[in-house]
Amino acid sequence: MSLEKQIKHNCPHCNTEQNLIIYNSVNVTIEPSLKSKVINGKLNIQQCTNCKKEINIISGFLYHDMENQLMLNFSPDSDADQISKSEMLSELKEKGYIYRIVDSYPALVEKIKLFDLKINDKVVEKVKSELSLMLNSSLNEVVGKTDESEINIFFDKYDKGLFKKKLSFIFFLHPSQIMKIDYNIKKLSKKDRAKIFDLETLRN
Ligand SMILES: [Zn+2]
Repeated sequence: MSLEKQIKHNCPHCNTEQNLIIYNSVNVTIEPSLKSKVINGKLNIQQCTNCKKEINIISGFLYHDMENQLMLNFSPDSDADQISKSEMLSELKEKGYIYRIVDSYPALVEKIKLFDLKINDKVVEKVKSELSLMLNSSLNEVVGKTDESEINIFFDKYDKGLFKKKLSFIFFLHPSQIMKIDYNIKKLSKKDRAKIFDLETLRN
């Protein structure tokens, strides 16, 4: 079941007060149509009653995928604690659920993509820090010192070529420089290669 709540919010275009419905939790197994809205960042889009323009509210919610036994807590204002300690969550974990807290929208979409492809996110996190280190040092050579916190890498897709299986990442450097990086999964350690399509080790 998905849960909604009503909030009062001024339209960012005309400043008229609006009663908006936003989601607290989204069950994409029961309501699959919500999933593409989440992925496209359009979950809470509504039309202003006055100026008729779009209002898009990005606020925290729980993403619940019963089929993949996955619960993602999107928590941009770091209020994830309450849910993390809840009884419901410990019950779900006992049932074998994977639970993750994400603090940004790209990170949420990344997790959804990874688990849909049955890719082990812990292995991908390792690859990301490896890439981040590499990019950081090559950037230092080219443009001088860069702040590591300004580097963001997100998983984009998995290419299952006949000869070359690779993970593709998108790399952001604050504010907006973008490039794509491919990572051949042959470069993974033997241990990680054995784990990358194994989600069962993440369930305990
Ligand atoms: Zn308006």
